[in-house]
Amino acid sequence: MSFSQVAISIPASPTIALNEEARLLREKGEPVIHLGIGEPKNKTPIAAILGSAAKLNSGDVKYAPTDGNPSLKKAIIRYTEENYDRVVAPQNIIVSDGAKQSIWNILFAILNPQDEVIILSPYWVSYPEMVRMIGGLPVIVTPEDGSFIPSFEEIERVVGSYTKAIIVNSPNNPSGMIYPETLIAKIVELCESKNIFMICDDIYHKLVFDGKSATPAYQFTGKDIENSKIIAVNGVAKLYGMTGFRIGWVVAPKKMVEIMTNIQTQTTTCVSPVMQAAAEGALTGIQSNVESLRLTMQNNRDILMQELRSFTDVRCFKPEGTFYALPDFRAYCGTALVKNSVELSKFLLKKALVVTVPGKDFGIEGHLRLSYAGSVKDLTEGFERMKWALDPNAPSDIYIGDRKLIRDWM
Ligand code: PMP
Repeated sequence: MSFSQVAISIPASPTIALNEEARLLREKGEPVIHLGIGEPKNKTPIAAILGSAAKLNSGDVKYAPTDGNPSLKKAIIRYTEENYDRVVAPQNIIVSDGAKQSIWNILFAILNPQDEVIILSPYWVSYPEMVRMIGGLPVIVTPEDGSFIPSFEEIERVVGSYTKAIIVNSPNNPSGMIYPETLIAKIVELCESKNIFMICDDIYHKLVFDGKSATPAYQFTGKDIENSKIIAVNGVAKLYGMTGFRIGWVVAPKKMVEIMTNIQTQTTTCVSPVMQAAAEGALTGIQSNVESLRLTMQNNRDILMQELRSFTDVRCFKPEGTFYALPDFRAYCGTALVKNSVELSKFLLKKALVVTVPGKDFGIEGHLRLSYAGSVKDLTEGFERMKWALDPNAPSDIYIGDRKLIRDWM
């Protein structure tokens, strides 16, 4: 069998692959704790359920407009006005099957072969792979100072004649950090002066902690939406915990939306009207769900930090948003037990039945991405198991499910 060179070079998304592995283990009855997946445990907001149920009950579920239902677009226009302080037209919006497809559409719409996209490390696993699939070149900027936020100078240094876009994800998956306003402002200026698209992946923008906020890039441009280089991506997956509904959207200049709509007509036709009705429900219903999710995540973040502090030799920047943390486990890598973050993650799954994601997949070796989107019980028990598996100062025996286990590898 012969396949496309590009296609066979694309690895499975490590987070999705881990999810599948955990599911199979659970199916076998193993008491797996999942600190890998970025998926809040909350129930779907009632307004989303009612919206989609009404659409289903109508018995009229047909193709929808390719760029999104007008009523959902209306809700997105209001959302954009409230959260971005920008009045946009329906023609500035396109709805897709999740923010993932939104980002894919943007990249497909702008990249010629060999065009470069600047990606700031640590980064979401799918950015470089999507750029590669489309024939572009990901250019990774890794902060030299060991922080999770590259300096403006580091970013500016890699800009060249092939630079087509820069992707900014703040609050950031995997680090949980919010990029400083001064950096966002400088990136906006850079993009506008050099004619580079600034793709703002704002999927976590309201999940911010301790009174901090993630100021939208639009705040730093005097240009209107048609003339700005800023493209905003958002969706319902994270803020409303509606990962399974697969609704994302892009706010962009009209011409770009038109091109992305053409792409969508030839690939997916439209987003299911049932799911669009759900998203509309979420956006127009009571918004206290988002605030309560934010508070839950902030509380989980505090518990995670407390657990991390009691872990010998693990350091972690305190996440300012999202539901991820990226602790530094280098003290446990490069040992006889495990060489790197991939082995560490496998070791924790094998010995302690805890799912984590290796930092290597996010461009940062020696770290693990931990999600605290799950329950407090999973978080505390997951940490007890991880400490048992790795920390010589932790008690050497533990119960995992109903099995008593003794640590015999150190
Ligand atoms: N961007 C980032 C940074 C993400 O973490 C994710 C989901 N993990 C997405 C986009 C995709 O979101 P969706 O589920 O709406 O496709």
